[in-house]
Amino acid sequence: MPKYQNHKLVIWGAAMKICVVGTGYVGLVTGACFADMGHSVLCVDKDETKISSLRSGEVPFFEPDLLDFLFRNVAAERLHFTTALETGIENAQVCFIAVGTPSGKDGAADLSQVMEVAADIGKYMGQSLIIANKSTVPVGTAVKVREIIAQKLCARGERKLDYCVVSNPEFLREGSAIHDFLYPDRVIVGTNDSKAVKVMKELYMSVTNKERPLLIMDITSAEITKYAANAMLATRISFMNELAVLCDNVGGNVEQVRTGIGLDRRIGRHFLRAGIGYGGSCFPKDLRELINTGRKNGIDLQIAYAVNYVNEKQKRYLFDKIQQRFGERLRGMRFGVWGLSFKPLTDDMREAPSKIIIQLLFEQGAEVVAYDPKALAQAKQMMANYAAQVCYVDDMMEAVNDADALLLLTEWPQFKNPDYNELKSRMKSAIIFDGRNCLEPDTVVSYGFEYHCIGRNSYG
Ligand code: NAD
Repeated sequence: MPKYQNHKLVIWGAAMKICVVGTGYVGLVTGACFADMGHSVLCVDKDETKISSLRSGEVPFFEPDLLDFLFRNVAAERLHFTTALETGIENAQVCFIAVGTPSGKDGAADLSQVMEVAADIGKYMGQSLIIANKSTVPVGTAVKVREIIAQKLCARGERKLDYCVVSNPEFLREGSAIHDFLYPDRVIVGTNDSKAVKVMKELYMSVTNKERPLLIMDITSAEITKYAANAMLATRISFMNELAVLCDNVGGNVEQVRTGIGLDRRIGRHFLRAGIGYGGSCFPKDLRELINTGRKNGIDLQIAYAVNYVNEKQKRYLFDKIQQRFGERLRGMRFGVWGLSFKPLTDDMREAPSKIIIQLLFEQGAEVVAYDPKALAQAKQMMANYAAQVCYVDDMMEAVNDADALLLLTEWPQFKNPDYNELKSRMKSAIIFDGRNCLEPDTVVSYGFEYHCIGRNSYG
């Protein structure tokens, strides 16, 4: 039975008509969850391939439980897909913007997708509308979106339509996106428009309460809150990664340090794992944009800068360990890789640390045989440049055949307790580099492996 089958969400107000622009990880989850609450949702994407695969019942990326949500809400005729924004916003009360905001060349967020949507809304809007921005955008974006819509309305000679732009940043995590949307720690709504406050409260009523509050704040604070949250989490990771390097040098064990500080209630246990650096479509780009926002305003955000710097260094830390073990030149060596996605339970390869490590191995002439439970297709596409030396397999044990070492780069649950006897019998040398500290050192060593990890010294 699907996990959320019995998750009964109550609609206190009337069902609304909602448009969601962008059917990526955020947009599709937003659309599916609002539809599941009983609203009528039209999801818009300019990518025709995505829309036609959604229409034929396929989700264009991997996200647990999402397919079930799409299936039952499409069947109930509450969820529809289109490439035409004019159809999407027709008679809608709220339009969510959930398009990409990748880093531009200078590190600043590229807002072209958001601005294109704003222009289209201004071109096609035919009734009062609340535009709620879910994309992660720098301070001042809501004002710019408002201006663009105003210009387009003016060009149409349309002066009477009432609309407002609200900041509604999204905090879901890939891999648990449905759960996070339905059980948010908080919902942030940035606006000073009382009508918008009423509508947004009604929309989120069934997933917010005293413990999961909906916070109303000014637009600027809402826009900053999203960057602040990601920067704070990234800071914890970089701090632990620096401590891990220290542990490696002075003989400590970063896992014990993590437990020791995590039990302090003022600190808490989350986001304290050392590894090969954070990646994904959010932390790296959001840190860069935060630094950029500071710079544009004459403020040197040194902590954000240091967090980013430490992370870039950490992405090659495991590779440095490989070179320390085998020497600088790796030509002719074969490495089995387990895990490519930037974290488990997603197929997202954006800024995945695995790409950096594979690139470095490639540059030193090594051969890589890689396995990932979900990200193989994305990885092949994104690392097409290294096709000559990277081979992808769809079985984790096949990846280690004749390998000089196994590199564990994403902590998928299935990697945590492998059949060590089989592993050893397939490998040329029994050597493991665990970039996520997800194996138990004593166990690994007891099977006769040499074991390298992050901040826990080396074993074997
Ligand atoms: P994504 O790249 O997966 O999806 C964006 C979608 O928008 C794509 O399908 C694209 O085709 C579509 N699009 C682009 N321009 C369009 C246009 N003019 N009209 C219609 N569709 C258009 O992005 P995502 O990961 O869902 O992230 C969206 C935003 O949410 C980003 O700002 C991101 O920083 C933020 N965010 C992401 C996450 C996450 O975990 N992925 C979490 C919180 C916030």
